[in-house]
Amino acid sequence: MKKAYNFNAGPCPLPKEAVESTINAIRDFDNTGIGLMEISHRTPGWERTMEETRQLWRDLLNIPEGYEVLFLGGGASTLFLDIPANFLNKKAAYLQTGVWAKKAGKEAKLFGEVDIVANSEDKTYSYIPKNYTIPTDADYFHITTNNTIYGTEIKYDMDCPIKLIADMSSDIMSRPVDVTKYACIYGGAQKNVGPAGVTFVIVKKELLGQITDRQYMNPLPTMVDFRTHAAEEKKNISMFNTPPVLPIFVMHETLKWVKDTIGGLENMNKINTEKSKILYDEIDRNSMFRGTAEKEDRSIMNHCFVMAEGREALQDEFMAFAKERGMVGIKGHRSVGGFRASLYNAVTKEDVEALVACMQDFEKAHK
Ligand SMILES: *Cc1c(COP(=O)(O)O)cnc(C)c1O
Repeated sequence: MKKAYNFNAGPCPLPKEAVESTINAIRDFDNTGIGLMEISHRTPGWERTMEETRQLWRDLLNIPEGYEVLFLGGGASTLFLDIPANFLNKKAAYLQTGVWAKKAGKEAKLFGEVDIVANSEDKTYSYIPKNYTIPTDADYFHITTNNTIYGTEIKYDMDCPIKLIADMSSDIMSRPVDVTKYACIYGGAQKNVGPAGVTFVIVKKELLGQITDRQYMNPLPTMVDFRTHAAEEKKNISMFNTPPVLPIFVMHETLKWVKDTIGGLENMNKINTEKSKILYDEIDRNSMFRGTAEKEDRSIMNHCFVMAEGREALQDEFMAFAKERGMVGIKGHRSVGGFRASLYNAVTKEDVEALVACMQDFEKAHK
């Protein structure tokens, strides 16, 4: 098979082991003689896989009692609406750190008042706003921990006077998280924990069912209400309707790799930080390029860079040069331009070193 260095921003590369075991399960799931895509989701082997997948989430993130882990369809974009549906009575506060955060806030406006407490759109979202005040009369404060398009990240779990809700689509499972600081953590799987087609929702159960005086969508439609999917009866969790078994299975295998091969999130974070530093060091050293995100807010997942001043005309040439060497998915989002290399969990140190060598060779060719 052709060697490609995959730096796409999502869907992400997956661990080889996860892909291989999925191929086997597609042929024959759990020695049933039936393939994964053809089994009933009420098969005992599947119920066990669901339970194991939830347990992997619990183990890796140290999720305490009282929180439930749900796997739903519809992508993170559908959760932008599910979040206010389940949590917004009157007013919500949003931190606008990118286009995904803005889209999340837009859905919340359907349900009530939205207070954008800070916004970094003035500088193309190249930094995380600081020194804002979280209104204590809001029902919750919503953040996007990793801004996939702009390469900025909130790399710590903040103290928040009200319920804290986070879209962690693109940095979940890249580092340990103190789940107890959050009312809800959600995202799409395809940036770091699996293929597209499934989302994750970690939610503190006692905070559900508190929509009282809202006019819109009250009572909640069945599928929108997180309580539907957080059933008391274990085997029905996330099984109210047919779950997306294929992406959940790949997620199961991917998380098993994080746990058993990598050794958990402390190790994952160490590896990711090292990979990230190798690339940022080169971006900062190389006279052909410059980074676009504020240094202290730089993401360890998505690395955005453009041609250095005076070198802008070489952009297309570098793109072709990198492509020639097997680099895939390094074109920056159109709103930022330039390049973006995403170093998700399954991207190896060797992949990063290949990109760095490519950047160095390009510089030499133009000295
Ligand atoms: C990709 C992404 C989304 C959107 O995910 P979909 O599953 O495609 O709807 C939302 N938030 C963040 C931070 C993302 O990176």
